[in-house]
Amino acid sequence: MQIRQLILAVFLSLSCSNSATLAAENAGVVAQKGLKALQAKKYKEANQYFAKAALLNPRDASYQYYASLSAFQAGDKNTGKAALSRLFLTQTSHSPYMNPAMELQKRYGVNAHAYYALKNGMHTVWSRRQMPLKIYVSNGLALPEAYRGKNLNVPQLTELQDWLRKPGAVQSLKVCPGYQSGFASQVRSGLGEWNWALQERIITFQFVNSPVGANILVFWSPSFPQPSQAGQTLYMVRNTETRPIIIELRTDFSPYSSAVASQSIRNAAAHEFGHAIGIQCHSPFGGDLMTNWQSWSEGASYHISENDKETLRALYSVAPHQTF
Ligand SMILES: [Zn+2]
Repeated sequence: MQIRQLILAVFLSLSCSNSATLAAENAGVVAQKGLKALQAKKYKEANQYFAKAALLNPRDASYQYYASLSAFQAGDKNTGKAALSRLFLTQTSHSPYMNPAMELQKRYGVNAHAYYALKNGMHTVWSRRQMPLKIYVSNGLALPEAYRGKNLNVPQLTELQDWLRKPGAVQSLKVCPGYQSGFASQVRSGLGEWNWALQERIITFQFVNSPVGANILVFWSPSFPQPSQAGQTLYMVRNTETRPIIIELRTDFSPYSSAVASQSIRNAAAHEFGHAIGIQCHSPFGGDLMTNWQSWSEGASYHISENDKETLRALYSVAPHQTF
């Protein structure tokens, strides 16, 4: 009964839509055919229409919802799950599609829940052209004091990125107070949490020894504006040029033991890398690697969850608004 009501609601919204783009209009026409097929219980046919509409307009929740519903009804659980993840990826908790989508998830026993990962509604990923992403993990280097461990605004970040590009700039940086040999290998270990994404060919990345041309640069800071913060990711999106993303990780974990410090660095590196590859929000689910670090306990170990995986899969499964 609930489905029937939703069908009507979407049908009306499609009919009244003033879509600005031709793609959106075409998607609307295709989706109407999907609704007819769905009402006639031709689920496989309906799914083909909704999948096409969703391809044309991937961040329209109604298309993803019906692509998911029709796939589940047709017995194709994997397709249904992927469409559901794309819906969760682009919808905040206020979306009218959130509850119906969660109903579907429950009804069809989907074991993972992707989460909202866009920033200001903008869907951003690394382009294939940039891969494998080159990651430079500095051996303890700290940024100049004016920038280190700070919440930089766009002009400050631009200035820093321009400065880092200058020949010899990185080489002139000093080792961060509190840095211990072995911290860099914790970063590599933490990024290993994302190796499954290499195996699934969602993204590819490699470690490089030089900062020149690297896509992601890892530096160190003794502290951050918030006392328990273990790291931060600094980036901005400019469609005209690719600029490196900067990750900073904390070095001073006193009064905790070095085992706690190592684990915290590993956790923070894995988490910040998730931001650097496009998950621009925090998961609302406590056990996920991408949940807000403020809820973490010192020394505990955090790992990629099925929710994190589904989110990254959805993020890279359709055309984004822009690339890093
Ligand atoms: Zn975060």
